[in-house]
Amino acid sequence: MNRPRLPRLFSPLVVLGLSLLLTGAATLFVSISTRERDQARFENAVEATLDRINTRLQLYIALLRGGGGLFATDPNVQLAEFRAYVDRLNLETNYPGAQGIGYSARVVAAEVDSVVDAMRAAGVQEFHIWPTLDPEPHSIVYLEPLDARNQATLGFNMFSEPTRRAAMQRARDTSLPAMTGRVLLKQEIGPEQQPGFLIYVPVYRGGNIPPTVAGRRELLRGFVYSPFRAGDLFEGIFGTEGSPRVAFRVYDGPTVEPGALLYDSRANSGASAKKPRFTQTVQREIAGRTWTVAVSSLPRWENTLGGWLVPGTLLAGLLAALVLFGLARAQQEAYREAEQRAVQNNELAERLQEQTVELEERIDQSRALNEELLATNEELSATTELAESARAAADEANQAKSDFLATMSHELRTPLNAIGGYTELLEMGIRGPVTAQQLSDLDRIRRSQQHLLGLINDILHFAKLEAGRVEFVMADVPVREVTQALRAMTEPQLRARPLSYSFDVSCDAGLAVRGEADKIQQVLLNLVGNAAKFTPIGGRVEVCCETDAQSVRLRVRDTGIGIPADKLDAIFNPFVQVGRHKMEESQQGVGLGLAISRDLARGMNGDLTVESVVGEGSTFTLSLPRADDAAGATGNQGTG
Ligand code: ADP
Repeated sequence: MNRPRLPRLFSPLVVLGLSLLLTGAATLFVSISTRERDQARFENAVEATLDRINTRLQLYIALLRGGGGLFATDPNVQLAEFRAYVDRLNLETNYPGAQGIGYSARVVAAEVDSVVDAMRAAGVQEFHIWPTLDPEPHSIVYLEPLDARNQATLGFNMFSEPTRRAAMQRARDTSLPAMTGRVLLKQEIGPEQQPGFLIYVPVYRGGNIPPTVAGRRELLRGFVYSPFRAGDLFEGIFGTEGSPRVAFRVYDGPTVEPGALLYDSRANSGASAKKPRFTQTVQREIAGRTWTVAVSSLPRWENTLGGWLVPGTLLAGLLAALVLFGLARAQQEAYREAEQRAVQNNELAERLQEQTVELEERIDQSRALNEELLATNEELSATTELAESARAAADEANQAKSDFLATMSHELRTPLNAIGGYTELLEMGIRGPVTAQQLSDLDRIRRSQQHLLGLINDILHFAKLEAGRVEFVMADVPVREVTQALRAMTEPQLRARPLSYSFDVSCDAGLAVRGEADKIQQVLLNLVGNAAKFTPIGGRVEVCCETDAQSVRLRVRDTGIGIPADKLDAIFNPFVQVGRHKMEESQQGVGLGLAISRDLARGMNGDLTVESVVGEGSTFTLSLPRADDAAGATGNQGTG
């Protein structure tokens, strides 16, 4: 039988392995792409931060250029005009972070006094240029809005301080805006000091920018500038930001130098000690100066990144792998079961087929048997028919024989009786005197006539029995009456032999058998007659009785010649005699006595049996049902 093989490709472990492999690959892919995307988002945040810083500073530079333009059109800008310009900008509201916009004038030695006078005249009491006029006198003359911090700087010669001077010289020589390095502003008069820086835009005499450096140095008139407190500036830029994505530190110069730190946003943004996932350090050039900005991601922003995607993918993949594994196992299990069931079904089918074949064979056999049976049956019915017809023929023949015997006996008896009658008449001398010789002959004639009559009676009786014409009139018959009558009738014969005899009737006086008295008598007479016939002179004949609960047995025992064992059955057949015995002709029978006796015994629900030993004697037993127990033996009318 072809057993379907399990597809090994889909074995649960392979499914699990493949699923885990796929999960691993997917997780790796998601991890890489997530990391790349997060990196890009961080870089965007860095760029945006720097852009905001740059944009704001460019705005201030634009304002300073505007201020420069003011001086280019009117070389003698008065304090009131300058104040009006700055006022209109409304710095605090529109451009928060700048400390103010000012103008620092280059003062040639000859002009120092007149400048001081003019400032004092404009209302700035005790105006003077400080701390020194060296190396070249510059003086802050305007700085708006003129609050206490700014007021503290009026008259300050920024050229005297190297950091500021470097930026001023660069602005002067390049004609471009120039930013200083990290400084502490003169405005820092309070306790909370912040690092700061300044941006200068040069103003030249004559309104135009001289084409050469020498010309620019020659014609430099002063600088429109802005001082910036770094903390205020960056908070001004980023203070409105709701949830900052990154923290940053701004360093003056091209490297991260703790001493050059301008601003650290982490002081306000609640950056934790946790190591940030993303960091980047970038340089930006603003107004001729390089700033280094170190940016790092903030935990709150990091939490919004797709970091969960990786564990999520892994988890989903593992779950899917487990589910697939489970499904594959269930499928395998189902497959195995189906396979087993198929095998079982096949076996069942095979068995069924075998049984069917066997059944068909048996059906064939029984069909054959049936046919045989039918044939036998037909034969049987044919045989039965034959037997029936044979039996009918036999019955018919038997009937004819019986009829013949009855008729013939009757016909024979009539002349025999006549012979007997006339013989008696002659003996009695009625026909005249008879001689002794004649008397003796007449005696022989009469005995022969009686013997013949007895034979004919026997034949007639047997024929009647055979034809079922004998009727049994059943009654309770006292045993003693029967034996006494028997004794009376047989004693003369026994004495005549002579034989010794006894009629020892040991049974109860009241014992009775069920039967017909005459027929019982007839049987016993025959038995005793035979005993007398076949026992030599001087022998002994006994009649005795035995009984038990159901039956009574009357035995006739003799010490006669006995019967050979092989003839014991035959003597009950009609016309059977065991050899001819030497006896008077008148005593010779025809072999019907025992046949008639057994038929009579059986007709009374009893039986007749014999035991005999040749030379020792014979015992004939007539058994009959007891009268007091003869309920089952009622009126058997006739026998075969
Ligand atoms: P019958 O006496 O007329 O010949 P039975 O039928 O009475 O016929 O007996 C059949 C035969 O059985 C007898 O011829 C005899 O040979 C044998 N037989 C009967 N009774 C005895 C007996 N008591 N002893 C020996 N033989 C017997």
